[in-house]
Amino acid sequence: MKDYNEILKEIAIEIEPLRHIGRQADYIPALAKVNPDRFGMCITSTDGIVTEYGDMEERFSIQSVTKVFSLSMSLSLKGEQLWTRVSKEPSGAAFNSLIQLELDRGIPKNPFINAGAIVLADVLMSELESPLEEYLAFVRAISNDPTIDYNHEVASSEREKGYINAAIANMLKYYGNLDNDIEDVLRFYFMQCSVEMNCRQLSRAFLPFANRKSEFLFNGIHLTASQVKRINAIMQTCGFYNDAGEYSYLVGLPGKSGVGGGIGAVYPGRYAVATWSPRLNEKGNSVMGMKALELLTTYTNESIF
Ligand code: GLN
Repeated sequence: MKDYNEILKEIAIEIEPLRHIGRQADYIPALAKVNPDRFGMCITSTDGIVTEYGDMEERFSIQSVTKVFSLSMSLSLKGEQLWTRVSKEPSGAAFNSLIQLELDRGIPKNPFINAGAIVLADVLMSELESPLEEYLAFVRAISNDPTIDYNHEVASSEREKGYINAAIANMLKYYGNLDNDIEDVLRFYFMQCSVEMNCRQLSRAFLPFANRKSEFLFNGIHLTASQVKRINAIMQTCGFYNDAGEYSYLVGLPGKSGVGGGIGAVYPGRYAVATWSPRLNEKGNSVMGMKALELLTTYTNESIF
């Protein structure tokens, strides 16, 4: 097989025609300012070898990719009890959908849609003494990078226009599935989404999900190998919202996308990979990123299937 370096170069050539397809998320005003014509991809192998291509230095808003980190913390703190507050079924609906939340009487379908992640934010607020500090400390630890930070401008810009998320939080509160103050939970959730990383940092942050042989213990957050496996399962079934089936079909790696255009994915036992390209398809997933991952598993003939 060719090495990953050659493969990334081939992928870059192949996806070039997609560079101007799709639109970046602009319902978060601060994200509308990002240059949409970017592409970066980075593979970090479980033995520590980094292979990268394209825009690698610029940090982007990880947005919903953050949900993998909030699930890790919540599962570590609450164990199986967590699933009384959120289910683990693919939703087949948009990431910010409200309809099912009403039908399911305030129990979100899974932790990777907004409703689910807002419940996780509430769980963390109840469990942690200083939620903002401890969340960031965990993300820095898992990324092995103390420079990772929130972007306050992105978070407040999202809050200003966050009507749907506010509606979701209100409905959760109505059904008794939000313990803390609505406004406080939303602010914490938007801060989590505002965390910035570049592709190299994101692939490094996903490495512990690819590497079940070494202990998952970061800033006091511990997960068993079995819990890590289960987080991968939820990424596979729910990580791309109503595109999860298509993503599974095309790519075949547990992964999580965000409307900042980032994707983190893992090939268990081998590597973690991150892509970034801000133009999104109509389901809110990066056009170039999804195609690049599809080509990666096709060219290498390596996937979990
Ligand atoms: N912060 C975004 C929101 O809540 C995250 C959505 C996403 O990345 N899919 O709308």
